[in-house]
Order: sequence, then C-alpha cells, then structure tokens
Amino acid sequence: MRSTMQDVPLTVSRILAHGSTFHGSATVSTWTGDGVESRTFAEVGARAAQLAHALRDELGVTGDQRVATLMWNNTEHQEAYLAVPSMGAVLHTLNLRLPGHQLAFIVNHAADHVVLVNGSVLPLLAAVLPHLQPTLRHIVVVGPADPALLDAFSTAGIAVHDYEQLIADRPTSYPWPQDLDERSAAALCYTSGTTGDPKGVAYSHRSVYLHCMQVVSAESFAFNSRDKLLPVVPMFHVNAWGLPHAAFMVGTSILMPDRFLQPDHLARMIDREHPTVSGAVPTIWTGLLAELDRGSYDTSSLRRVVIGGSACPPSLMKAFEERHGIPLVHAWGMTETSPLGTVSLPPAGVSGEEEWAYRLTQGRFPSSVEPRLIGPDGTPLPFDGQSAGELEVRGPWIAGAYFGDDENGELSDKFSPDGWLRTGDVGTISPDGFLTLTDRAKDVIKSGGEWISSVELENQLMAHPAVLEAAVVAVPDEKWGERPLATVVLKPGATADFAELRAFLAERVASWQLPERWSLIEAVPKTSVGKFDKKVIRREYADGELK
Ligand code: ADP
Repeated sequence: MRSTMQDVPLTVSRILAHGSTFHGSATVSTWTGDGVESRTFAEVGARAAQLAHALRDELGVTGDQRVATLMWNNTEHQEAYLAVPSMGAVLHTLNLRLPGHQLAFIVNHAADHVVLVNGSVLPLLAAVLPHLQPTLRHIVVVGPADPALLDAFSTAGIAVHDYEQLIADRPTSYPWPQDLDERSAAALCYTSGTTGDPKGVAYSHRSVYLHCMQVVSAESFAFNSRDKLLPVVPMFHVNAWGLPHAAFMVGTSILMPDRFLQPDHLARMIDREHPTVSGAVPTIWTGLLAELDRGSYDTSSLRRVVIGGSACPPSLMKAFEERHGIPLVHAWGMTETSPLGTVSLPPAGVSGEEEWAYRLTQGRFPSSVEPRLIGPDGTPLPFDGQSAGELEVRGPWIAGAYFGDDENGELSDKFSPDGWLRTGDVGTISPDGFLTLTDRAKDVIKSGGEWISSVELENQLMAHPAVLEAAVVAVPDEKWGERPLATVVLKPGATADFAELRAFLAERVASWQLPERWSLIEAVPKTSVGKFDKKVIRREYADGELK
C-alpha cells in the first residue's frame, strides 16, 4: 500500500522562505571588531532575493552552475548560503586557509563560474590567478579591496563586481523554482586534504534539510527561536556544520565573528553579545580558555558549546566547565557526513565520574546515522565497547561518492562495495551506541604488534598543568616497527622537562606505550581547519630527542 502523504521536496528555499517570513525579526549580526552590524532575517531574505536576481540576470548563472564563496563568517555569506542553493545553483565554499595550489585546484575542479570574495582575502585568489581556468567568469567583491588586485582580475578577463552595487535596486522577492529535485546538489565542500588531494562532497537539498533538523534537535545543538548562535566554526568548513541553515530554519539569531577569531575578540563577543550556543574546533577553544582565565568576562549566557573536528582533550572540557561554567559537548563528524555523526549527551540517570566517562566519548549516533565496525580481517565487530575496528557509516546525509567520481568511472575506496562510507577512524561502540575513537587509522602507532592510541597519549599529556598542547605521532623504529614521538608546547612561562612529563604519563598509561622520543616545540603545526597536522609533524620532528 502506498502512503497517502504529500510528497513535497525538502529544499533550501523552504528554509529561506520560512526563516525570512515567520522569523523575520530574528537577526544576523556581524562582529566589526568593537560591536555588531545587524540585519533582520526579513532583510537577509530580501537581500538573498536581490543576490539571486543579480546572479541570474547580470552574471548569467543558470542551472546547477557553481557559485563559490571565499569569505569569513558574516551576514553577506549567510545571504549567499540562502540565495545560491535556493535558485538552483550550487554553493561552493572555498577554504581560505588552503595552500594556493589546492585553492586553484578546487576552483578549477568545481568549474566555479563566480566567486564571491571578501576584499580582505582577495590577495589569496589573486595569488593563484594565473592558474585559474577560464570557467571562472566573475568575482563579486564584498567590502573594500586593493584596486590594483581588482585591475589584475579585469586584465585576466574576469569581470569584477562590487557586492552592494550589484544587488542594489533589484527586486526583493524572487521566483524560487518550485520544481527543484530535492536530490540535486545544493552545496559543495572539499575535504581539507589531510589525507591526499581535496575531494568534493556535493550535499543535496534533501540532505541539508534533514541534517538541519538533526542539528537543531534536543539531542544535538538544541537551539530554537529564543537562542543566539555563535558559529565559530568557519562557513567554509563543512558548511559551518550546517549551523547557518539550521538557525534560519528555526529562527535562531546568529552572531557572526567575521575575521575576528582571536581569543580576545571571541571573549568580548561573548561578554557583550550574549550568545547561548556555539560550535568550534578544540584549538580555537584552547586559545579562548587562556583568555578567559586571564581576563574578566561574562560568559554566563553560553549554555551549550559543541566541540568537534578533532578529539576534545578532557582537560579542556573540564577546565571550561569547572572554571567558567561553560558546558562543552563533544561531537564527531567529517566533511563526508555533513558533518553531524555523533553527539555526546550522557543518558539519563548517570552522574559524577560515570557522566564524565560518557561526555568524553565522541558521542551517540542519531537514528539516521547507522554505524558498523569492521575488524582487521574485514568482518563486522560487536558493539560491546571493547572491540576496536574501522568505523563505517551510512545514512541520508552521508556521502555515497565524491564529486567527479562518476566521470572516471571509479568509486573511491572510501566507499565500500555495498555503499557504506569508510571513515578511516578507529574505535569502539558501546551497547548503547556511544562511539569512542582511539585514532585515525593512519595515525595509530603500530608498535610490536600492539596498537598505541596517539590521541590517548595527547590527552594525558595535555592534562599536565605546564602543557598547552601535545601532539603524538608514529616514527619508524628498527625493533618495534613504530614508536611514539611526543611533541609538546608548554604554556607561556611554564617549565617542565621530559623526565617529568614522562613520569606524569607513566602514572596514566601502560609502560610500553611511553614515548622514548620527545621534542619541545613552539606551536603544533595545524591544518587549514585547525587540526594537528601530523604529516608535517612526522616530517619535521621525526628525530625527536631520545630520552
Ligand atoms: P579532513 O578529513 O580533511 O581532516 P574533516 O573535517 O572532514 O577533514 O575531518 C574529519 C575527521 O576529523 C574525522 O574522520 C576524524 O578523524 C576527525 N574528527 C572529527 N571530530 C572528531 C572528534 N570529536 N574526535 C576525534 N576525531 C575527530
């Protein structure tokens, strides 16, 4: 029997229409360095319509052409997030921290027709101008920019437009296509390339919509029309975890940090603008902690901060909670999973150490993300909290292929023959569905037939009062195959020698896991999305001192 229900497509234009009419007085505010400039959702909706008119009528965007953004988190970026997918084109967010050759690769690979770019980051695009293919026809500059750079684009045959002039005086409503297939692409994001060449994941309208509903749910970020969201995670990183669309869906006001991601700015933003929820990667929050410890800020508005993107050190979570009353909620995901994969909210009835044990896991899977663990011999493992294997997932907002895979007729080996995503993450799943990651498959230290978790050693080291950050990598070892090398950044003014750190670790991990090689470093090298760059650490510090 067929259902009797309506079959209405789930599209971004629904989110736009709903947010700008029924939540028209909610606001998107952009931090200017010393205050905010705000627009209502109604104004943002009207400007999104103007942008769509400009893109279609003036810049000739048709069908599913790609419109890219190279922008900070700000109101204009939110307008592009809504306008581009709603008109049927594909929003391609460019990571402004990528090395030039990867930026050019991505713009060309996606065949971007237009790039919307903040004037302050125009030099990044100008630097790769000779490498851009003629598929790029227009740049639309948001904010002031160096005139010499603008001339360089014009000379190269790429038309230059000013965002405000381009959208001014255009109609404030747009005939958003009603027959858009919900399975067509709405947004395109490339992985940050820590595991090879960047690969594109094309999110559908349907996947964006369903993922948003999960993001706002009580088991995830839990925000609604009474909240104010501070998305610190960049809008070029997995669509800022779906937060901009999700906030528009439920009328949550948004506080955009723009380019001010420095700890003192974030602290002042929170102090003055009172966001209630936020999302960020651990490295940013590590910097913020030091600032909050130093200064005097009112952070009492924050009731939930979701931390993901890499393992959140327990010491960070406890410090925020105990010293500043800010609850951090751990979550796991990846570009290929939209990204929401798991969120760590403890079950009812637990408290004290048991509650912390739950909170420190990567979290529980929602019903739409189905997991399985695959052992070294390829067989599925039980969810017993003990058996460790590679995590594979499937679901309506999980990628089933990379953009362009079908052109060369090959499916990446990231996808199993029966259609699951191989995450490359290794861990266990408890009987009640909580994921604990021990490592990325390629970062696990394989020592004499045993596996050592680099993340476990890092977390323990970062609990030492003198340690700001610690990154552990595998280095080749004649006897054992591989052994851990610990690189350590001390807090400003703190002292600790390797013997002391080793003794500290010895109380917390098995003796055969203790690193023999150590390096004191100024800063942990980071990837374009703020994760420890273990490729670089392995290359630069492989000869850590033997202790
Ligand atoms: P890239 O793969 O290019 O680094 P992603 O942002 O997609 O970019 O990274 C996803 C990966 O980040 C995951 O596969 C996992 O290894 C890691 N990760 C994300 N969240 C967590 C977390 N909470 N704990 C541990 N690792 C995490």
